[in-house]
Amino acid sequence: MSKRTLFVTTALPYANGAFHMGHIMEYIQADIWVRHERMSGNCVHFVGADDVHGAPIMIAAQKRGVTPQAFVSEIAAGRKQYLDGFHISFDHWGSTDSEENHELSREIYRRLKDAGLIYTKEIEQFYDTVKGMFLADRFIKGTCPRCGAPDQYGDNCEVCSAVYSPTEVVNPYSTLSGSTPVLKKSTHYFFKLSDPACVEFLRSWTTGKGKDGTATVQDEVLAKDREWLGVDGHLADWDISRDAPYFGIEIPDAPGKYFYVWLDAPIGYLASLKSYCRKKGLDFEAILASPETEQIHFIGKDIIYFHTLFWPAMLHFAGKPFRVPDHVNAHGFMTVNGEKMSKSRGTGISPLQYLELGMNAEWLRYYLAAKMNPRVEDVDFTKTDFAQRVNSDLIGKYVNIASRAAGFIVKRFEGAVLDSAMQDPLLAKIRSRAPEVQNYYEVRDYARATRLIMELADAINEYVDQQKPWELAKSRDAAEKLHHVCSVALEGFRLLTLYLKPVLPATAERVEKFLGIEPQTWASVDAPLTSAHAIQPFKHLMQRVDMDKQLNVLVPEKKPEPVEAPVLPGGEAVAAECTIDDFAKTDLRVAKVVKCEEVEGSTKLLRLTLDIGEGRTRNVFSGIKSAYKPQDLEGRLVIMIANLAPRKMRFGISEGMLLSASHATDKSKGLFVLSPDCGAVPGMRIH
Ligand SMILES: [Zn+2]
Repeated sequence: MSKRTLFVTTALPYANGAFHMGHIMEYIQADIWVRHERMSGNCVHFVGADDVHGAPIMIAAQKRGVTPQAFVSEIAAGRKQYLDGFHISFDHWGSTDSEENHELSREIYRRLKDAGLIYTKEIEQFYDTVKGMFLADRFIKGTCPRCGAPDQYGDNCEVCSAVYSPTEVVNPYSTLSGSTPVLKKSTHYFFKLSDPACVEFLRSWTTGKGKDGTATVQDEVLAKDREWLGVDGHLADWDISRDAPYFGIEIPDAPGKYFYVWLDAPIGYLASLKSYCRKKGLDFEAILASPETEQIHFIGKDIIYFHTLFWPAMLHFAGKPFRVPDHVNAHGFMTVNGEKMSKSRGTGISPLQYLELGMNAEWLRYYLAAKMNPRVEDVDFTKTDFAQRVNSDLIGKYVNIASRAAGFIVKRFEGAVLDSAMQDPLLAKIRSRAPEVQNYYEVRDYARATRLIMELADAINEYVDQQKPWELAKSRDAAEKLHHVCSVALEGFRLLTLYLKPVLPATAERVEKFLGIEPQTWASVDAPLTSAHAIQPFKHLMQRVDMDKQLNVLVPEKKPEPVEAPVLPGGEAVAAECTIDDFAKTDLRVAKVVKCEEVEGSTKLLRLTLDIGEGRTRNVFSGIKSAYKPQDLEGRLVIMIANLAPRKMRFGISEGMLLSASHATDKSKGLFVLSPDCGAVPGMRIH
C-alpha cells in the first residue's frame, strides 16, 4: 500500500485561558491516531494553534491592562508544559494572529467574494449603551429561540446545538454590563450559505467518503447535518463581520470591519500548516494541492455545525489549492462520575494538577484509550475505574510480564534471549493479531484495541503461570527450558509494548532501550528479539496510582450538601420551597367570630361559629383553649382556611381551620390567633 500524506488538526482552543481536561482528551485521541499513522510509515503533518481573535480576548486584555497580542502570547507560552506533559506530538503550534493566517483569511475571503457568495446588508445589532460597543455574541445571553433553554449564548445553544443570530435570542441581556442591549444599525458582510450551490455541495460532501474510503462524517454527525440540510431545513446565511473595536483581521477594502473570529479560526488550521512548512522548508501549496493528501480534523461535538457546514463550504468555493476535509472526527465530552465538568461546581479535573501530583500522563492516555470508540460518546472518569485500569491492566498484566522474565535473562543468560524460542506458537498467535490491533487504531476504536491487547497480555501471563520459571530456576537441568520460557515472555512483552506504543509512547521508548532495540514501527512485528540484543537489567517501568495521595486529591470526594436549614426562633426550619401556585391552592379568608364556646369533654378545643359572608356560618374547632377564653374571641375578625376539606372530629364536623402562631414544640411560649388590620371585612381573601 502506498504511503499516505495526512494533514491532521485538533480544534483550536480559545486563548483566554489554560487548557482544560476536554482539550487534553481531544489531543490524546488525535495523538494516538497520529502516532499509529507514523508507525505505519505515513507522512503526518499534525498541527494545532491558539484561536486568539474576538471580543472576549479583547475585553480580557483590557481588564488586565495589556494589548491583546501580549495577552495571548502569555497564554501561548503556557501551552508547552501541557503538550509535553501529556506527550502530544504536534509538529507545530501556531496562532490565528500569525501573518500566515492574515494572508490566508484575506485570500479565502476574496475568492468567496469572487464566487459571488459574499454580500453586505444593513443589520441591526445589539449595542451595549453602557459599554459603548456592539456586543459580540458571547456577551449576549438569553433564552434559546429553538428549544427555550435559558441562559444560552447569543450565537448557539449548548442544549440543542442550534446556531442562530443574537437578535433571535429571547429576553437578551449584556453580560458585560447586565443592561438590556439596544439594537443599532450597521453594515455587515455575509457568507451566502443558503445559496443552492452551497446546499447541494454540502448534501454531497456530508454523505461522501474520504480518500481512505470511509464516511466523511460519523453517523451521528450525519444525522445532525441531515436535520440542518434536510428538505425542510434552511441554512441561514452567515454573518462574518464585526465592527471596530475588535481584535481580529480587518476585511480588505472595508475599514473598521473585521472578520468574525469564527471565520478566521478554522483557516488557522491552514495557517499553522503554512507556518510549519515555512519553518521546515516544505511546500505548503504542494501539500494542499496534492491529490494524495488527506485532511482530517478532530473536534468536539459542540462545534459540528461550524466544521461540517461552514468550513467545507468555505474551502470548496475558495477553490484550489484549498481542499475539503476528508474527515471530521467528532468526539463527546469528558464527564466525571457521570457529570459534566464544571469549575464552579468543583467537578472538573485540572490537567495541570494531574501532572503536579506526579501522576503519569500515560495512565490517563491509557484510561482514555480504554474508553474511547469512534462514536460521538461522552467518556466518563471515575476514580475506581481509573485505579483499576492502571493498577490491574497496566501494572498487573503488562509491566508484570517484563519484571517476571527479564531478571532471569540478565542474571542467568547474560542478557541474551534464546533465538529458537521466537518460533513458539504463543508468539505466532500474538503476532497474528497485529493487523486487528492496527485496524482498531485506524478506525479510532481504541477501546477494542486495548481490550484485545489485554487479552494477549492475559495469554502471556497464563503461559508464565503454567511454566513456572521460578521453579525451573531451581534446577540446573531445566536451564534451557527456563531460557525458552523467559525468552517467550520477553518477546511477548516486546509485542505488547509495540501494540501499546501509540498510547504509551514514553514507556515504549524506555522499553526499547531496555531491550536494546531500535524505535519500533508496525513493521517491527516480524522483527523478534535476537540473542544479538543485549537485554539491560530491568528497571521499574511504571508506578501504581495512589488512591489517597493522587486520585483523592485530584477528584476530592464531594462534600455532602447541607441538608439542615437553620432552625428559626419558631422552633423549626423553613419548609421545602413551594410555588405561588401551591400557595394559591389555599383559600384564606377573613372571618368574623359570631360565637365561641367551650367544648364539653375537651381540654384543648374551642368551638367557633365563623362567618365569611357566604350567607351561612361555619363550625370550626380550634385547639386554642389554653390561650383564649371564648368571650375574648367573640366579635373579633380572624383568618381561616376556607377550602380545607371538612374533617369529622369526635365533637362534630370542622369546616375549616383557624390560623394562629406558636412555637413548633414549646407551647409555653404562647399561642396567638391571627387577625387582619382594621377595615377588613368578613369574606376578604388573603393573597
Ligand atoms: Zn436550544
